[in-house]
Amino acid sequence: MQDLICSKCGPIGTEYYTEMKANNNVARCLKCDSFIKNLPQGNEPTFYFGKYKDQKIKDIEDMGYLKWCLSGKGPKLSESIRKAIQDRITQFEYLAR
Ligand SMILES: [Zn+2]
Repeated sequence: MQDLICSKCGPIGTEYYTEMKANNNVARCLKCDSFIKNLPQGNEPTFYFGKYKDQKIKDIEDMGYLKWCLSGKGPKLSESIRKAIQDRITQFEYLAR
């Protein structure tokens, strides 16, 4: 992650999350949810919170945790994170068959 500057909060370091929008990898402020900028693409969806912070979602094998994330009881998820988690669960359950 790179350090970014929010137009409202000022320098926020890595206090932001990313989501895919119309093929853009958009960075948004974690504090005020403002749009910051489009980031270069190619980043794997990565947890920005919790016990797997900074780990790629496709590498997580803790299905209980991933399902908890999708249950709505966990942190608010960006659409790209939610989709990556859903894809990971689907893939894992397919491989487990
Ligand atoms: Zn902000």
